[in-house]
Amino acid sequence: MFIKSKPLYSAITLKCIKDCIIFVQNNLIMKTISEVDFTGKKALIRVDFNVPLNDNCQVTDDTRIMAAVPTIKHILEKGGSVILMSHLGRPKDGPDAKFSLKHIVANLEKLIDQKVIFVHDCIGEASLEITKNLKDGEVALLENLRFYAEEKNGDSNFAKELAKHGDIYINDAFGTAHRAHASTSVIAENFPNDKYFGLLLEKEILNIDAVLKEPQPPTTAIIGGAKVSSKISIIEKLLDTVDQIIIGGGMAYTFVKALGGKVGDSLVEDDYIDTALKVLELAKEKGVQIHLPTDTVVADRFANDATSKSCDISKIEDGWMGLDIGTETIQQFNTVIQNSRTILWNGPMGVFEMENFKNGTVAIANALVNATDAGAFTLIGGGDSVAAINQLDLSDRVSYVSTGGGAMLEYLEGKELPGIKAILN
Ligand code: AMP
Repeated sequence: MFIKSKPLYSAITLKCIKDCIIFVQNNLIMKTISEVDFTGKKALIRVDFNVPLNDNCQVTDDTRIMAAVPTIKHILEKGGSVILMSHLGRPKDGPDAKFSLKHIVANLEKLIDQKVIFVHDCIGEASLEITKNLKDGEVALLENLRFYAEEKNGDSNFAKELAKHGDIYINDAFGTAHRAHASTSVIAENFPNDKYFGLLLEKEILNIDAVLKEPQPPTTAIIGGAKVSSKISIIEKLLDTVDQIIIGGGMAYTFVKALGGKVGDSLVEDDYIDTALKVLELAKEKGVQIHLPTDTVVADRFANDATSKSCDISKIEDGWMGLDIGTETIQQFNTVIQNSRTILWNGPMGVFEMENFKNGTVAIANALVNATDAGAFTLIGGGDSVAAINQLDLSDRVSYVSTGGGAMLEYLEGKELPGIKAILN
């Protein structure tokens, strides 16, 4: 499955040839599913169908299902049959109708334009009987993997039972690639010569590598969101990769306080004041420019209808909390973004869920669209920035929107993702 090769391709160059091969690690070029003859083969695909459902168990956002369609269609076109497996939600003690994957069957059928056979269990004789009889061109969906605790525990016997469904294993679930679960990594040992990345996972790796490995300078990371604590390792890692880091969102106030500013009742992690100072110090040593907000929109309560006003971010009065970046900051960040060639965005600039405090996040999204139009490579990842870009209907106007929040962050942090490692080993 691996071909040893001398040249180290740049990830960006590789995008042109992604349908044939994918550069994964030094000197390792890996065959993709494009080179596999699926005729008469059953492809067992780990997908990420962990989609949001409303109270009537209807899918409210089918982005993740849509993301798996190219791999499914590819295998069907190449003469194979498809068995899909996924988790959905967090069922506690075994089967729970609320989390059944049968709720997504209609959406999937519509997206792939064909019937899907729903299998009411993911392991066992009855389910194997169905998948054994699957004909080329047919698609089956197994019931929620997390109805078995063995899935999250990475149980190898459970993985072996799952493996009985297919001749070829494909991992196309980037969103869970950072988990060492039975279906995401352990299962791969049952397919030593027949394991592959799906087209989505391949695309994710290529696009993140475009930022991580050989980015076009100047490179800028925009990091926002609630807390320094959850983003500190990625910021530290990015100090080795990018030229500039824009810090916004709730985490900015810890930095402002660390620098001696008054942040009133804004979100602050006092335990991370020293860490923030160290990051600023380290950035200076490494020649990375850090951009912090200079003004902010403050509110007298954490509510959309709170009284609000703008002020200097380091002079927030007690009783007021910063919930968005201000107009001066938006302009300043916009200039940095327009002067960058490679841009990564993770985390909102403010409490964008509230209409009155989403201005900064919307402005950054638009700035990224403009930068993309001007030729920059723009990568968006992480639950809330993706939600923001989708809400604004701008996901087609940036270079790439990653489907994996936690997985993308861990990959950017330089961690080895079990789901990727299992295919490479
Ligand atoms: P994260 O999951 O760490 O990316 O954080 C996303 C969350 O950060 C969103 O729910 C935002 O509402 C929240 N957030 C962003 N800016 C602020 C802020 N200034 N104060 C409080 N929460 C914020």
